[in-house]
Amino acid sequence: MVSNISLQVLECGVTAMDFEMVAVGHPDKNASKHLSCGHPRLREGQIAHPVYAYIIEHSGGRILVDTGFSDTAKRDWKNNYYTDAMDYEPGDNGLFSQRLEQHGLKPKDFDDVIITHLHTDHAGNLPKFATTDARILLHEEELRGVVNVKGGMLREDLTTLWGVTSPQGFTRKDWACLIPDRATTLYGDMEIYRGIWTVSLPGHTWGSLGVAINLPHTGWVLLASDHIYVAATWGEPFVGNILNQDPSAWAQSAMKCRRLQEKYNMLIFPGHDNKIIVPDKDEPFKLEDIRASYD
Ligand SMILES: [Zn+2]
Repeated sequence: MVSNISLQVLECGVTAMDFEMVAVGHPDKNASKHLSCGHPRLREGQIAHPVYAYIIEHSGGRILVDTGFSDTAKRDWKNNYYTDAMDYEPGDNGLFSQRLEQHGLKPKDFDDVIITHLHTDHAGNLPKFATTDARILLHEEELRGVVNVKGGMLREDLTTLWGVTSPQGFTRKDWACLIPDRATTLYGDMEIYRGIWTVSLPGHTWGSLGVAINLPHTGWVLLASDHIYVAATWGEPFVGNILNQDPSAWAQSAMKCRRLQEKYNMLIFPGHDNKIIVPDKDEPFKLEDIRASYD
């Protein structure tokens, strides 16, 4: 255990998302009525789906995990697909860059930026960090995936319908700054600072990463990102959704999360939920409200 690590949670607004889609991938409400959901409803059938970034303070450096939606996302989205499927509402001063300012921080103040995956709600402000000295860490397979599949010649807002084999949610504008040599790619589980590990969780995207942190008081937490999309994803069995590119890889990675949780008694932070999953001595787990900071 390291005595000087802390974790701060930045909630960077919400998107309106279809609950059946993010939780079960099926439009029939009967399929999801047994699933718990703490999200307020934004409009009929849609939940307020928070977007998170995280700051880890460590004696070795200050680390940012994810960069939220681009501050200009709404203006940049040329195709109304995004606004229809996941309308972004930053709320009062909830843009990612406003959240950084509220912490008295600028992009140049970070030593490392870990991108859990390159979906536009996680990598939206990457270009601001590409011009700093920060090390930008992401999974080798993630970068390979966007470059090979999205390529350099497609329009930035390439959009079709959601689909398992047609990966959506990647915006070239977010990640083009990494090409050809601005990223430090990882193959999977690596301890990047004492007590801070990247965890390979492929399935939601080609190279989704979680981040495991051994906090002095809280113990181990796993920022599972969209691998565990919402708290309702976690259960016996796990509940996948159609946002996962590769369902069988996702299932393997979900079991990895379970083994990590059992071995290290980890708190699991879903990608888009205001509840976290906490191991419990009487029940398999319980849900707790997410807090602004952990140490
Ligand atoms: Zn996401």
